[in-house]
Amino acid sequence: MWFVPDALGIVCASATWALTLSEGALLLSAWLLPARRPAYSAVHGSLFHLLAFLALASHARTMLTDPGALPVGVLPTGAAPAPGLAARCPLCGAARPPGAHHCSVCGRCIRKAHHHCPWVNNCVGEDNRKFFVLFTLYTALAALHALLLLAVPALCAYARGEWDLQTPVRPRASLFFLFVVALSGFLFAGLMFTIQMHSILTDPQTPPGEPGQASVWTNLKAVLGPRPSAAWISPFASMGPRAASGLQAEV
Ligand SMILES: [Zn+2]
Ligand SMILES: [Zn+2]
Repeated sequence: MWFVPDALGIVCASATWALTLSEGALLLSAWLLPARRPAYSAVHGSLFHLLAFLALASHARTMLTDPGALPVGVLPTGAAPAPGLAARCPLCGAARPPGAHHCSVCGRCIRKAHHHCPWVNNCVGEDNRKFFVLFTLYTALAALHALLLLAVPALCAYARGEWDLQTPVRPRASLFFLFVVALSGFLFAGLMFTIQMHSILTDPQTPPGEPGQASVWTNLKAVLGPRPSAAWISPFASMGPRAASGLQAEV
């Protein structure tokens, strides 16, 4: 099993779990249960916790999946690599194809390395990118759901000129904390998701698919899987055989 023994990453990844779980607990205790509307609480409680569960499952798979570490090799003796051969990494000696970068936290060269994310305590690379995309997507959706639950009644009350909602004894501090966690989670995860999707869709290194295919579609399939299915949005489905990218290291 892959796990990066980095103290900052472990703290940040634990904080991600703690914030997501407390967001769910606060939504129940400070908003849904005091509403005293069983159907409303059951529907929205189930939806939020389904999204949060998928987010945390995606997080675990991002963290515990080898992002595409290249085999470490013997360090070069000083001779420049022959033309056409992958360059050797001066730090770990891996034969490095285009798009691979050395990560100082992981201590390895990673295929199609995007960045090292302390919030998932791992590099985001070719082999765990789908899970990272799903993590940011489900985190943003869960946070957006919580934000809408809080904001829509407040906006309606504002429109009616009544700020105080159904229950005046609601724990205001809990609601404020929930709002801050949900808003920051939505902005941060939404931004990460947007950056990932832009990077995936505009990746110039994906080899062309079948003739006539748009490159964005080829790029999307290279990350999510060979054909659109429920596996695309499931953190439990692996990405399948790695795209025949021809980027394997030549050792
Ligand atoms: Zn390296
Ligand atoms: Zn890394």
